[in-house]
Amino acid sequence: MKILVINSGSSSIKYKLYESTATDGDFGVLAQGGADRIGISGASVDCKRDGKEREHVYLDLPDHKKAINAIFQMLTDPEKGSLARLSDLAGVGHRVVHGGEDFSKSVLIDGDVVKAIRDNSVLAPLHNPPNLMGIQAVYELVPDMKQVAVFDTATHQTMPPKAYLYGLPKTQYTTHKIRRYGFHGTSHGYVAQKAADQLGKPIEELKLITCHLGNGGSITAFDGGKSVDTSMGMTPLAGILMGTRCGDLDPYIPLHIMQTQDMTIDEVGSLMNKQGGLLGLCGNRDMRDTMAGYHKGLEGCTQAIEKFVYEIQKYIGAYTAALNGVDAIVFTAGIGENERTIRKMVLENFCYLGLLFDEEANETHGPVITKAESKVTVLVIHTDEEKVIAADTFEILNG
Ligand code: ADP
Repeated sequence: MKILVINSGSSSIKYKLYESTATDGDFGVLAQGGADRIGISGASVDCKRDGKEREHVYLDLPDHKKAINAIFQMLTDPEKGSLARLSDLAGVGHRVVHGGEDFSKSVLIDGDVVKAIRDNSVLAPLHNPPNLMGIQAVYELVPDMKQVAVFDTATHQTMPPKAYLYGLPKTQYTTHKIRRYGFHGTSHGYVAQKAADQLGKPIEELKLITCHLGNGGSITAFDGGKSVDTSMGMTPLAGILMGTRCGDLDPYIPLHIMQTQDMTIDEVGSLMNKQGGLLGLCGNRDMRDTMAGYHKGLEGCTQAIEKFVYEIQKYIGAYTAALNGVDAIVFTAGIGENERTIRKMVLENFCYLGLLFDEEANETHGPVITKAESKVTVLVIHTDEEKVIAADTFEILNG
């Protein structure tokens, strides 16, 4: 069974074509690539097939429909394509950022689902509309193609009110849907299950803290396999310091900046979303560059790294208290999986939990980076959000 996974952004689309191997239910990638600069000059599509050279073509892509059509053409190319025909695709799985309170799991897309995603655009104005453009484009090109929506927010719908309510007049929640939703749910849910598998225990018996540290970052507390709290909020701006996002702030700060520095809402939004985080503190958005500066002793990079580590430590500490203990902590995504120094610095403060760090295992990225006698196990687990989308799509299509 072949499944195409699409992550549709405002000017780019990423895709992966999977084939399920019926024997073990696992998925192999047949082809992957993307369309770039949609609606802008210099647009292109590319495709990388297993063991072959990457194909990269420049062409005019005025909209998402043209871009997805170009991707379909590459995938069904008579000589090099991975699909003999489009009807060989069992379905398409889409990443959708915000499902609001409407979706606590992945769903087959129909008119009602499209409407709900559109209605939730008010909560994710930069993400849901381009996600919908991808869904709409596939529908227009192949009307009978089965499509599935997998939401970043769904995993966190298990949070109790004490975790998702803000201290605002209740009508802000009941009328305006202002609450904590949380993001990176597919990644947190996937690595939490992998951690349980690795520990050889049912997830229902575990207290886990998962740290997804990529360009965007968030930390989630899982009690018995359910997300009970997470660091991102109504939007993906809250929580720990990120590549360019500021993370948690005194909530009055944006109002103060607008009042005293004559800035518009958009300007302050950009300040917090695109000019903050590591970039704002030291001029590098990428952890590799920031870490290189830290190792050279540059003041800005040192402060940025120390702040990044400190924020993660505070969330782990808070979630350990919220969970009344923790069995395992998981590091995942670009920084979590690769950056040994960050993991080491973060874990230095948890000796009081009986956590015994294994320096040697950390050097080779584990997967277990604590000693056998440690009371808390720390794992490094590779996340694979697209594979989760493929697996959910497969499951839904198979009833
Ligand atoms: P996203 O999916 O959120 O765009 P990723 O999960 O790819 O992000 O993570 C990107 C981050 O991971 C960047 O800050 C990058 O510097 C960092 N990263 C990637 N590889 C490494 C590495 N080998 N060592 C340290 N940091 C890395």
